[in-house]
Amino acid sequence: MSLLSVENLVVRHGLLQAVRGVSFSAERGETLALVGANGAGKTTLLRAIAGAHQPAAGQVRFDGADLTDVPSHKRVGMGIALVPEGRKLFVQMTVEENLLLGRTAGRPGDWSVDRVLEMFPNLKARRRAKTGHLSGGEQQATAIGRALMSNPDLLLLDEVSLGLSPLIVDRVYASLQTLITSGTTIILVEQDLNRALSVSDRVICMLEGRVSLEGPSKSMSRDDVTKAYFGLHKAGAGSVSA
Ligand code: ATP
Repeated sequence: MSLLSVENLVVRHGLLQAVRGVSFSAERGETLALVGANGAGKTTLLRAIAGAHQPAAGQVRFDGADLTDVPSHKRVGMGIALVPEGRKLFVQMTVEENLLLGRTAGRPGDWSVDRVLEMFPNLKARRRAKTGHLSGGEQQATAIGRALMSNPDLLLLDEVSLGLSPLIVDRVYASLQTLITSGTTIILVEQDLNRALSVSDRVICMLEGRVSLEGPSKSMSRDDVTKAYFGLHKAGAGSVSA
């Protein structure tokens, strides 16, 4: 059984259908990259999986359970953690306090403040600094760390490289590599196609709310994904759904 299964999901913002009948699954331990142009529906899809946005139709199943009526805080308790676009930290609170908030779901597991600081060594000296005073890279590390503190089985990462310098992005991804190899299931939204292809097992490309291309990262070229990104894709590489 897949860890996550999304079936014919439709998510609206008012009259706008941002996600239009999306189906896919994620297997345990898999890293899935979600790519697509601005406005393709990636953030809306992640938020619907996390329970932050109620779908209009379709189903999300996690570890076999139907999540339709499960509120977002309970989904954290079940093992789904979202690192939202823009980080959404409590800027008046310290790194440590933000990290400890991730604990409130009470899920048992190995993640602790010390382990997060081992994974992101640049945060060690900033442990008692207010997150509003941190650099973008330090804030992103704190946001990822806070999600890890809930001991998730599924980590949803929305544009972790947004607004960061290439050097800092490399550092964040170097830390994420530990997670990727440790067997945490990850769905990440990433604008950098080369990076998306290199870190993931599978890529899903969205176009105007639909999946335009899906397949194993190894068998896809940057060109295939770029075409799917702009709606120029022809059947041939990966599977295509309209
Ligand atoms: P980006 O890379 O820009 O974040 P995205 O692929 O994540 O894009 P979404 O943010 O999910 O796309 O947006 C999908 C569509 O829904 C877009 O047309 C966007 O304008 C619209 N949208 C997103 N959030 C809202 C909102 N809160 N209210 C109204 N429309 C919204």
